[in-house]
Amino acid sequence: MDQMLLMLPGPTNVSNRVLQAISKNVVNHRSAIFGKILTETSQLMSKVFKTNNKSYLLTGSGTAAMEASIANILNPNDKILNVVSGKFGERLRDITNAFGGKSVELNVEWGNIVKPESIKETLENDEDIKAVTVVHNETSTGVANPIKEIGDVMKNYDALYVVDTVSSLGGDYVDVDGYGIDICFAGSQKCLAAPPGMAAITVSDDGWKVIDKVDSNTYYLNLKKYRDSSAGTPPETPYTPSVTLVYGLCEALKIIDEEGLDARIKKHKIAAKACREAVKALDLTLFPKEEVSSSTVTAINMPDGVSDSELRGTIRNEYKVELAGGQDHLKGNIFRIGHMGNITYKELAITFSALEMTLKRLNFDIDWGAGVAEVNREFI
Ligand SMILES: *Cc1c(COP(=O)(O)O)cnc(C)c1O
Repeated sequence: MDQMLLMLPGPTNVSNRVLQAISKNVVNHRSAIFGKILTETSQLMSKVFKTNNKSYLLTGSGTAAMEASIANILNPNDKILNVVSGKFGERLRDITNAFGGKSVELNVEWGNIVKPESIKETLENDEDIKAVTVVHNETSTGVANPIKEIGDVMKNYDALYVVDTVSSLGGDYVDVDGYGIDICFAGSQKCLAAPPGMAAITVSDDGWKVIDKVDSNTYYLNLKKYRDSSAGTPPETPYTPSVTLVYGLCEALKIIDEEGLDARIKKHKIAAKACREAVKALDLTLFPKEEVSSSTVTAINMPDGVSDSELRGTIRNEYKVELAGGQDHLKGNIFRIGHMGNITYKELAITFSALEMTLKRLNFDIDWGAGVAEVNREFI
């Protein structure tokens, strides 16, 4: 089987170093050896989150951390302001409702960012709002919300600031302590470039004050248990973690540390710019406005006269490049190129070479090499 090039907003291509790490044998998860790996992984996570608070590892995909972020702060009927500007904002709203909370929705048209002033206005008019959830990088629309500026607003209110950085951490600027974020989380399979199956979450002192007053009705994701177990000797998780995936996440974080977080984020920004320029050079159009577009995933309008299955099917079957489609009402209307994790000019050059051949096969009159040329221009 030809190896697929994953140009998806998760899961992303995993390096050989990480693959080797996950192939090591399993150890007792309640041993000093594993305690050391757990501690190192948690410390490296906090470094990427840019927080002095502890990070906790959850065995599950990013959605496990989304659920933990809500379920632990919510008593029945508590109000949470959920910013909904795409699929993942909707998911946080649905989780709020699923755990008996009252979701106050702040809806933003898909493809746009939320304005910090709108959050301020809502908080001014409703003192009961206990927390605000924002998705940093709305993967479904390819838009990055202004989490720093929202943090400036949040500093004037008691409500907790909960930010989903699943598809941005390690690929865009996130500064948990600097932005005043109370609860922040990420998944292993996006910009961190580890296999899917692990999530990490970090909580501020204010966050813990709220959590300690909540009789949480989640059992597996009860963060108080994670806090207690991680403070033991040796440090542990409350239930058996995916030992091998922790090896993998730890190795992926070491790679980020060696590369340097800033260098890695800059690399993502170059890749995003290259992708946008290449798209335009092929006479395709971007879904969101460029000034709000994501550093980790680019959403592109589906060109007229071609279906999602023709375009993504051809590039997948003929050229072994996996692109993502649109979700919900954007299904068939957009396609998305993920440029997260281990993305260099190589992956983008192959992607645009394949996209050019795909478009040509589908009878588009494109300028041969125009997309690839833009990739070269941005990366030289
Ligand atoms: C991928 C993603 C998640 C989590 O999805 P899982 O499939 O559960 O890992 C959450 N939020 C955002 C913004 C994401 O991109």
